[in-house]
Amino acid sequence: MMQFYMPTKIFDGKEIIQEKGQLLREYGKRALIVTGRHSSKINGSLRDVEEILKQLDIDYRIFDDVEENPSIENVVKGAKTYEAAQFVIGVGGGSPLDAAKAIGVLLKNPNIPVEKVLFETPNAKALPVIAIPTTAGTGSEVTPYSILTVHKEQTKRNFNCKIFPEIAFIDVRYFLTMHIKVRVHTCIDALTHLIESYLNTNATAYSDGIVEAGLRLWAKGYPRINAENIDETHMNYFIEASTFAGIAISQTGTSLPHGMGYYLTYHHGLSHGHANGILTSSYLRLYQNQEKVKQLLTYLNMETIEEFERKIDSLLPGLNLTQEQMQRYAEQMMSNQAKLKNYPFKVTTEELFMMYKQKSSQAESNR
Ligand code: NAP
Ligand code: FE
Repeated sequence: MMQFYMPTKIFDGKEIIQEKGQLLREYGKRALIVTGRHSSKINGSLRDVEEILKQLDIDYRIFDDVEENPSIENVVKGAKTYEAAQFVIGVGGGSPLDAAKAIGVLLKNPNIPVEKVLFETPNAKALPVIAIPTTAGTGSEVTPYSILTVHKEQTKRNFNCKIFPEIAFIDVRYFLTMHIKVRVHTCIDALTHLIESYLNTNATAYSDGIVEAGLRLWAKGYPRINAENIDETHMNYFIEASTFAGIAISQTGTSLPHGMGYYLTYHHGLSHGHANGILTSSYLRLYQNQEKVKQLLTYLNMETIEEFERKIDSLLPGLNLTQEQMQRYAEQMMSNQAKLKNYPFKVTTEELFMMYKQKSSQAESNR
């Protein structure tokens, strides 16, 4: 059985909010804008949203304190900003978009305890969520996922309901202000989504077709990935690749690098894209169907895993983990059933340990 479901309406173009923003009228008279601390004020996205809401006479409040890798406490605080909101508008990278979904769930279900509604209520509904991405990384504008930091478990966890945004408004102008490092790391996150969707238990002809298109777009953007100033054409390649990647993982989920990367973000402060990206060449090596790996590399115009590793790792700082840390994360990963089941083969603690080790020893020998 194959299925494909992606209900988000995507509007992509310059000044798209000015052009299509009147669609917001149907979601009510009270909106909560959920955004990060700085970037949306600088790249014009927040101003465009405020202007359209004023034009439409929609009352709004702004929660502009979303932290990177938002925690449960952070989204609870956001939900308190406007309890009477009828819909939520997330503006920013994956962190504000994920926070907007979680806040939408909390506001829709005020009588269910927070952790129960986020992690133990698969059918929980949310207020309508509008997503305005400003990084070409997570694809959160078209995925039903929201990844939250859970301090008491010392890692990050996907909430277990599925909340697709109603609308994604995508405007390349908002992405041009990214610092090079943020651009590189988030574009690499999109690449890892494409790869983990393709090398995945749940991959279908539908998701594979989207991945192929996404990888080809990503390869077109790649020559300018760390350019001082990226032009709109190349940025658009990455934006489309990232949205395609989001559509693909919304069908398949992600796999080992994402699950294993969460520990690197939580304990070592690596950005999300850096954490997954650094583990990806090890994943390509581990994957037992090397024919499929070869196929994937051809979409990227690459010949070998070594070429992939050279090109991606040269964009990312290396890893430096102790034996004890690698062992502990490998063991913890072995209990992450949600991610393990997306890997189509049997995997051992030793193999996961080696995925960390390949990268960590490389960092040492590079020094
Ligand atoms: P992010 O955490 O949203 O943002 C990273 C940094 O980039 C922040 O400092 C942010 O500043 C800044 N920034 C964002 N857009 C910018 C712009 N246009 N110009 C300048 N600076 C900008 O990064 P992200 O990688 O996009 O999101 C990571 C989160 O998404 C993680 O929590 C990850 O687990 C999650 N994720 C979700 C999915 C999903 O399907 N839902 C998939 C993968 C990852 P401000 O804080 O000032 O805005
Ligand atoms: Fe990701």
